[in-house]
Amino acid sequence: MSEPVVIGMDVGATKILVGAVTQAGDILASRLFKINSETQAITLRSIEASLENFIRDWNGSPPLAIGVGLVGQIDPKAGIWFEAINLPIRSPVLLAEQLSDHYKVHAALDNDVHAATLAEMRWGIGKESMDFIYLNIGTGIAAGLVFNGQLLRGTQNYAGELGHTVVQPDGPLCPCGRRGCVEPIASGGGMLARVQELLVDYPDSMLHAHAQSDSLTAHSIFTAADTGDPLAIKISSDAVQALSIVLINLVNLLNPEWIVYGGGTLSDGWLIEHVRVDVESRPLLMTRKSLKGLLPSRLNPDQVGLLGAACLAWNVNPSGGAIE
Ligand SMILES: [Zn+2]
Repeated sequence: MSEPVVIGMDVGATKILVGAVTQAGDILASRLFKINSETQAITLRSIEASLENFIRDWNGSPPLAIGVGLVGQIDPKAGIWFEAINLPIRSPVLLAEQLSDHYKVHAALDNDVHAATLAEMRWGIGKESMDFIYLNIGTGIAAGLVFNGQLLRGTQNYAGELGHTVVQPDGPLCPCGRRGCVEPIASGGGMLARVQELLVDYPDSMLHAHAQSDSLTAHSIFTAADTGDPLAIKISSDAVQALSIVLINLVNLLNPEWIVYGGGTLSDGWLIEHVRVDVESRPLLMTRKSLKGLLPSRLNPDQVGLLGAACLAWNVNPSGGAIE
């Protein structure tokens, strides 16, 4: 008999990663599918077809449960996907019930950042710590807050929307429609948008060449800042300042033991290394002394969404042992 597995499905705005994952967090097989998202019905069909295709080709033991990490608002207890901003989900979907009816196993849903945080709890820093913050900065900014070994969900499962904490009341416009949020200043997506907006004021910036060749990334902004490019210095130093404010406030507010981080914008280490000094020196004495550090997640950033989804499945599977 081959090793017991669950199926995890990480549904992003453009891609779906499906995989078979053991209780130790080993991914035995995985496959990436493109998502077709013209309408709600097409999106849901695309998700179902990806799962169907993966399970059809999977030749290990039958999955014990299915977990799905999704963007948007989810009620994990009821298994309902209410809405998403970057996928056209406008009316509630009873996705967990539909999947468990079809495949005759438990199915569970959660939002992708909460799912990644649950993977951190089970397979990452949670092995050593009960009190940590998982920070993810990529296109956007989000956080998972774990205290007393429990993920803080808030009243509607929305806790952790760190990207929309206010750092600069008259700052750039955020995708949420408000000004002042940290996300348009310090996320990868936000920094790229600000470069495009400000290029006209900096005719000599080396970022023009990146913008024209479609090679502009957070990493190229940081590299240009290090060589003295004034626009890159402005964008990156604004990002450092905004992110420092948010993290100093978080440390004072929540007194975490660790901050672990992941996401494409933090992958080259530049942004974290520049906020580290502030985060380790500016919070109150007791909160900063009890912060053991900021460190990269030990989970593979390309797999953390899939591991998070699998974690949801292990958490609802009776033999998997609940951690919540
Ligand atoms: Zn916002």
